[in-house]
Amino acid sequence: MDLAAITSVVSSIKSAIEIANLLKKVEGEFQKAESKLALADMINALADAKIAMANLQDEMQQKDQEIARLVEDLRLKSSVMRVGDAYYDKDKHGTHHGDPYCQTCFESTGRLHHLVESSVQANAGRFICKVCKNSFLHLPTRRY
Ligand SMILES: [Zn+2]
Repeated sequence: MDLAAITSVVSSIKSAIEIANLLKKVEGEFQKAESKLALADMINALADAKIAMANLQDEMQQKDQEIARLVEDLRLKSSVMRVGDAYYDKDKHGTHHGDPYCQTCFESTGRLHHLVESSVQANAGRFICKVCKNSFLHLPTRRY
């Protein structure tokens, strides 16, 4: 919901208050039919405001979820560093450590998947991603 929608909600509530004040002020002068019409207008204005507020609440929840996801993405990005063709956990000194993560997966999906060393003799020294199946050679040695 944008600013215009919020303005619309405020306007609906304002209309309802004006109608209520009018009813209060001139209650005795109104004919019964006019009074009922004014009440119906007020109920419509309040119903519009209620619906708009419910939509606003949904949108705020979605935005909160999106913000939480973006904060987590930033936290994750700042916790790893690229060394060679892979990402590694970064310690407080800015040094990589642990097992390598797949560069392809991290850069395309933002997810960290560990690479595993190939157990096939012909692929000795090659690291493979079990998710995207890419393989990498010559990764830096692990540091713990
Ligand atoms: Zn991968």
